[in-house]
Amino acid sequence: MPKIQREKHPMPAVDVLVEGIIKGDTSALGRAITLVESNRKDHLEKANAIVQKCLSRSRDAIRIGITGVPGVGKSTFIETLGTLLIAEGNRVAVLAVDPTSTQSKGSILGDKTRMEELVKNPNAFIRPSPSGETLGGVARKTRETIILCEAAGYSIVLIETVGVGQSETAVHGMVDFFLLLKLSGAGDELQGIKRGIVEMADALVVNKADGENIKKAEAAAKAFKRALHLYPPKENGWIPKALTCSATENTGIDTVWDMILDYIEKNKASGNFLEKRKRQNRNWLYESIEERLKSEFFQDEVIAPEIEKFVTEVMADTISPFHAAEQLIGMFKNKS
Ligand code: GDP
Repeated sequence: MPKIQREKHPMPAVDVLVEGIIKGDTSALGRAITLVESNRKDHLEKANAIVQKCLSRSRDAIRIGITGVPGVGKSTFIETLGTLLIAEGNRVAVLAVDPTSTQSKGSILGDKTRMEELVKNPNAFIRPSPSGETLGGVARKTRETIILCEAAGYSIVLIETVGVGQSETAVHGMVDFFLLLKLSGAGDELQGIKRGIVEMADALVVNKADGENIKKAEAAAKAFKRALHLYPPKENGWIPKALTCSATENTGIDTVWDMILDYIEKNKASGNFLEKRKRQNRNWLYESIEERLKSEFFQDEVIAPEIEKFVTEVMADTISPFHAAEQLIGMFKNKS
């Protein structure tokens, strides 16, 4: 039986929520994110209005993407880095992009139980991945959530994603710095990296450089460094770095942070920081248009049964797929 959604506490008006967010009230922030994550039309309208008002309020936050295979130590790394950043006077938001999470399973990433210390810290805000969504849906919701968190005064937004599939590309498209966490293997480091992800990463950090693993981790970082030099520098001139750290022992994390700050400073000075954000916004606009057009088309009541008919014909080879597409799009256009 479908769950009946009962609103125990009615949703406050847009202006009330915006005011709360700007004051740094986490309950207002949480409720606004709930609106952003909802698929209800009235919620979407409210969410749009809130995001719009928060846009100009976004402060000078830094957005960092963190990826790596399950077990590499992402949540431990975020816990250690987040605690360090808060100790330096920052407020830190942790979001997750995990399109595999479903309503029933709950989400794997950004799970509060995985960041025990951070979750207790009043200067940290942790939000798991929106669940039961396509990657496009999760990406939109996370992007808007970033804006809300920044308006609420979180100066650093960490976005966690699993190093499998397309979700890294989506996260790369919404952050200023993209960090890939790695483990040291048995000399097979170079084969272990997917080409695409190396091109996206601004740094490779070999985690678990502790105990007996230190030497292996350092050798892995050296091998990565050599490999990274084989790639052309990024358009902003940055050569991706390879470092080691131990998230459990809290070693090397400060060096990772210094490197990120160095990157941010250099890119701000050259103008690349803002340029990249502008490019990301432009891409987001195009992606949003594509998503919207596709869903309007495929979910159209009149068109949906027509698509079925054409599928049958195309499969029977009685009409070419191209011609069928033209006819369907013609029908869709003539409707409006
Ligand atoms: P995630 O799946 O990438 O988020 O990985 P977790 O943060 O959950 O870590 C997976 C396991 O690796 C846990 O048992 C952690 O305690 C352990 N771990 C994480 N970071 C380190 C580290 O720096 N050194 C060691 N030795 N273990 C670590």
